[in-house]
Amino acid sequence: MGRLDGRTALVTGGSRGIGRGVVLRLAAEGAKVAFVYQSNAEAASSLVAEVAQAGGTAAGHQVDVKDKSAVDACVSKIIEDWGKIDILVNNAGIVRDTLLAKMTEQQWSEVIATNLSSVFNFCQAVTLPMMSARYGRIVNMSSVAANHGNKGQVNYAASKGGIEGFTKCMATELASRGVTVNAIAPGFIETDMTVAVRNAAEAEIKKRIPLKRLGKAEDIASAVAFLVSEEASYITGQILTVDGGLTLGGF
Ligand code: NAP
Repeated sequence: MGRLDGRTALVTGGSRGIGRGVVLRLAAEGAKVAFVYQSNAEAASSLVAEVAQAGGTAAGHQVDVKDKSAVDACVSKIIEDWGKIDILVNNAGIVRDTLLAKMTEQQWSEVIATNLSSVFNFCQAVTLPMMSARYGRIVNMSSVAANHGNKGQVNYAASKGGIEGFTKCMATELASRGVTVNAIAPGFIETDMTVAVRNAAEAEIKKRIPLKRLGKAEDIASAVAFLVSEEASYITGQILTVDGGLTLGGF
């Protein structure tokens, strides 16, 4: 018996990195997992095959998370196919790091639309079905960057700070319907997103992390699996930092 037997989940940005780890973990715990990706169809189909080989069920959907009508259609299709969505993990995200003085309007709006408006798009699409079902688990992927200034990330930090406020408000709106809404703030995780920074300064970064290693997708997936399980049914509106102690500020 898995902790998530009988549950259906939707993970955005599931084809690679943290999202891929979340898909594998939720499927291993017994959930049927739909995931959304943008363009990497090869990564998506190899993930579906990997889940199937392990005895689970996953389905990839190519959807641009910025596109509200495509998101609505995707959510309707999953509910039509699988009857419900119990779990939503808003994980898709991008960086377009540039100092503010040089940031283009496109670099600003692309990050806000992909990281923050996508959360509005998916949360709104599942709200009525979850309210009617009197059950739901939503986890939004923030970042330690939401609360710790990094040069070159005004767009990214604004999107993640927005996610944290959104999470707390939504949690209060849906608590009476049995829907919990939480966020996770990862630190440095080994994914494609951090390749450039890791290539430039991996040793320095590790020195600043009390647990002396970078995080893995599995570290974030474990936190997601907990927050969507019955064991977390009394936790809502919280931001769980998973960063190896990076932001503790010790010496
Ligand atoms: P990643 O390896 O770059 O993967 C990003 C995923 O998002 C891919 O599956 C990608 O799909 C998908 N995606 C991007 N734009 C999309 C769009 N417009 N529509 C649909 N899917 C889209 O990133 P990651 O490092 O796993 O990051 C995942 C989340 O964790 C992000 O929200 C990120 O901000 C957050 N986070 C990451 C770190 C870190 O250290 N890595 C730290 C803190 C927070 P394709 O495969 O099709 O491109």
